[in-house]
Amino acid sequence: MLMQDKLAYVTGVANHRSIAWAIAQVLDREGCRLALGYLGDREKQEIDKLVANLSRPPLLVSCDVTKDESVQEAFGVLGREFGRLDTVLHAIAFARREDLDGRYVDTSREGYHLALDVSAFSLNCLARGAEPLMTQGGGIVALTYLGSQRAMTNYNVMGVAKAALESGIRYLASELGPKGIRVNGLSAGPLRTLAARGIKDFSTAHKLHAERSALKRNTEMEEVADAALFLCSHLSRGITGEVLYVDAGYRIMGA
Ligand code: NAD
Repeated sequence: MLMQDKLAYVTGVANHRSIAWAIAQVLDREGCRLALGYLGDREKQEIDKLVANLSRPPLLVSCDVTKDESVQEAFGVLGREFGRLDTVLHAIAFARREDLDGRYVDTSREGYHLALDVSAFSLNCLARGAEPLMTQGGGIVALTYLGSQRAMTNYNVMGVAKAALESGIRYLASELGPKGIRVNGLSAGPLRTLAARGIKDFSTAHKLHAERSALKRNTEMEEVADAALFLCSHLSRGITGEVLYVDAGYRIMGA
């Protein structure tokens, strides 16, 4: 029970395939009390179908990270209902399909702003909202991808957003460290989720990953969830500002 009596705000549950849902289940199994963040009515309907699988009903807290008042309201609810937070999971990303389809050089100004706002600046929003509630320190974990470091086919503006996210992780870790708040990234190999469906030729990337990774297979959802548990729990208490790769050893391989 690594998360006994801990309180977590898990964002990014869109449906049963979401990485955030796999992580929510592991945190729940380890004794954590959950608040699940969701974007809108469609996601809420999906979550309503899932919550019976948890050991106790989660608090449901809507939050659109592009709207300051929505973020403020979400943390207001968390403050009133939980009074404290120990963990925040950032599992939020979005880019327009046309910006994941063509050439990066053709990304529109609007598409660039939207992708960076939803996928990177949102970590600032969550960290700022959580800071006053993380009175006993704790862990903030954000999901990222290797496209931040390498020019991955069709990842385009999302790679730039993930680079900003990872840099933000380091700045936030340095600023919040004195309060015992750790901020880390978890870089997952390709997983078949709703967000992944927006990436052109995702299946090809998925297949290549299995062929080229050190373990000669794809990353599994449960592996990512277990690593997230590690980063959220006291087991990783000496680690902050890092990006942990859970990618079956894809990143370390040469030509
Ligand atoms: P997903 O579609 O299940 O999750 C994406 C979430 O972002 C959804 O819940 C969606 O509602 C939320 N979201 C989008 N716009 C939002 C907004 N304005 N406000 C609040 N929430 C918003 O897909 P996923 O693959 O589970 O993605 C979760 C995270 O994991 C993302 O950051 C993604 O980039 C990252 N990731 C995914 C993979 C993969 O292969 N699937 C690999 C590495 C990293």
